[in-house]
Amino acid sequence: HVYTNDEVHALVKEENVRFLRVTFSDLFGTMKSVDLPISQLDKLLANKVMFDGSSIDGFVRIEESDMYLYPDMSTWLVFPWGAEHGKVAQVICSVHLTDGTPFAGDPRNNLKRVIKEMNDAGFSAFNIGPEPEFFLFETDENGNTTTKVNDQENYFDLEPADKGEDCRRDIVLALESMGYNVEAAHHEVAPGQHEVDFKYSDALEAADNIQIFKLVVKTIAKKYGFHATFMPKPLAGINGNGMHMNMSLFKEEGGKVVNSFYDEQDKVQLSQTAYQFLAGVMDHARSVTAVCNPIVNSYKRLVPGYEAPVYVAWSASNRSPMVRIPSERGMGTRLELRSVDPSANPYLAIAAILAAGLDGLKRGLKPADSVDENIYAMTEAERQAKGIHDLPDTLHNALKSLAQDDVIKAALGDHLYRSFNGAKSLEYEGYRQSVSKWEQDKYMSEY
Ligand code: GLU
Ligand code: MG
Ligand code: MG
Repeated sequence: HVYTNDEVHALVKEENVRFLRVTFSDLFGTMKSVDLPISQLDKLLANKVMFDGSSIDGFVRIEESDMYLYPDMSTWLVFPWGAEHGKVAQVICSVHLTDGTPFAGDPRNNLKRVIKEMNDAGFSAFNIGPEPEFFLFETDENGNTTTKVNDQENYFDLEPADKGEDCRRDIVLALESMGYNVEAAHHEVAPGQHEVDFKYSDALEAADNIQIFKLVVKTIAKKYGFHATFMPKPLAGINGNGMHMNMSLFKEEGGKVVNSFYDEQDKVQLSQTAYQFLAGVMDHARSVTAVCNPIVNSYKRLVPGYEAPVYVAWSASNRSPMVRIPSERGMGTRLELRSVDPSANPYLAIAAILAAGLDGLKRGLKPADSVDENIYAMTEAERQAKGIHDLPDTLHNALKSLAQDDVIKAALGDHLYRSFNGAKSLEYEGYRQSVSKWEQDKYMSEY
């Protein structure tokens, strides 16, 4: 629903909104915000709020730094907390240049551009149902995070009067009051690890939802004395944080919306569109990984033994491959991409995945056979015989694949690709020059 100016004014009164948080996301997916007193509402509605783009990661140089925030009034929401001093409302914006054109370095504008390409290919929506995972760590007396978790629980465990459970319940309640349709929330496999799943929505809304979700989780965790982290692999030796993406393409057919991944006639009821999309995602898997797993630490999660994928393969029945086909059919037919982690900028990640899939359709690609046995248990020779490739093992190798992939580079656009590649290459270089505790422990006395 796109709120009209009158509706917004009425809501502000009704809910006693005193502050506006006007947000957009930078290259790394960090949400940036300009805070305005409510007196500035009309200025915002008139697209007149300005900021300095040169201080935002991946944006522009000093010389061309004036930028405008155009509010997307379908994203208006009021936070459920802070009522004593008047409430805070948030609006997600798109970034525009002084001449009014959308800024190509804004990841959200870029996703809209790729969605438009999908519309031109005949589809009405790219639905994304994300499954973000996170850890709750205890904080110390100064409020800094520790690496201590407060429980020793496991998948779906329930413990009476547990602080982590209470915190998760509060997160769900806050999300629901903000209009999220939470489908499931549960303890994950690792101690201190949780997952909250919300209903799928169209690509742009799903990316917005992920951004606000992270903010809500961190805010409520803090109230409980926790630090919530979406870091992909915070602790060695136990599962990391994934953000599986369930995805499907919808289209309009004879006045009805249908799921283009579903085909009653096929032996496993998947359509040609689903197979080709899957094949596109697999074909571009290595370069897509650079965008979906964009930090050095992402690659410590993509290792055997922790329910995270390591190989480019798909299956309808087991969970070790990169893509799993959940059993639901009809409108719920979907692919679950299991490699993505929550450090990804959701706008860039979804744009890259969508472009990979659309390329599969355009080229009429066929996926390799599904792999229904445990890939972790295969030898390298067995994997080779089945044509199963590895996902990149470092950010460096992922960036190398991306540099050679014109389709995924085009999905980011020139501006975003250049700043992404530049920033991420520097990040990797910084890591390469560091010396870790593991190395000191292992080598210091031995050599
Ligand atoms: N935490 C696992 C990962 O890193 C996923 C566990 C699950 O299947 O939900 O992807
Ligand atoms: Mg999970
Ligand atoms: Mg999953």
